[in-house]
Amino acid sequence: MPQHSLMVEPIPALKDNYIWLFATGDHTWAAVDPGEAKPVIHHLESQGDTLSHILLTHHHHDHIGGVDALRKHFGTIVIGAERDIHRLPPLDVAVTGEQRISLGREEAVVMEVPGHTLGHVVYQVQDTLFAGDALFRFGCGRIFEGTPEKMWESLLKIRALPDSVQLCAGHEYTLVNLQFACSLEPNNSALQTLLRHISRQTDREQPTMPSPLDEEKRYNPFFRSDDPLFARNIGLTGQSAEQVFASIRKKRNSF
Ligand SMILES: [Zn+2]
Repeated sequence: MPQHSLMVEPIPALKDNYIWLFATGDHTWAAVDPGEAKPVIHHLESQGDTLSHILLTHHHHDHIGGVDALRKHFGTIVIGAERDIHRLPPLDVAVTGEQRISLGREEAVVMEVPGHTLGHVVYQVQDTLFAGDALFRFGCGRIFEGTPEKMWESLLKIRALPDSVQLCAGHEYTLVNLQFACSLEPNNSALQTLLRHISRQTDREQPTMPSPLDEEKRYNPFFRSDDPLFARNIGLTGQSAEQVFASIRKKRNSF
């Protein structure tokens, strides 16, 4: 395990995406889900740095659109899921679940989390989780290819990670996710306090991540699908975790 903490930088891209950069060495970085190339090239070249690796969580265009141009520009190694090899740009390294991959001085642990897409993976590097569109702050991805049961299983895998893990998700959806959480539980004063804090941060256009996973465990409604008290608060007493999850995911789709 490296003796230093991971240097992480969000690069805002497209409408509300984040391309996450993290240092893989002195003046070398990896990019997670580069939906476009220009902001990454601009950011790295302004400090004389280069791009060693690209990590892809899934095949949606807003997460892969910049890959070809970045590979051409920097000669970058591209890493993505074996399962989606035909839907991703050409991969140099195809990964499967629980695999470890070395990235310069860092190492990433891969976790398969089907639901948003069937081949979705997340990457943990030190105590930072690059979650793509599987988990958002106070929310989770839409289920495009999986089932609610699959997605819930995937979220349980992520929830089992230590509280101190820092979440870096693929979109800045924090404010609207929190507004949704508050709409489910209007009397939850902790959520109201968080909403005031996040509103101020969003007004100043500050990124709301990285953020600790323990906060997700306490406040993310999707993570709380198996909490009987939460189910009661939202009028779903006696339903299974999968049923509660499916029900709030459906509500969020039209929020
Ligand atoms: Zn997506």
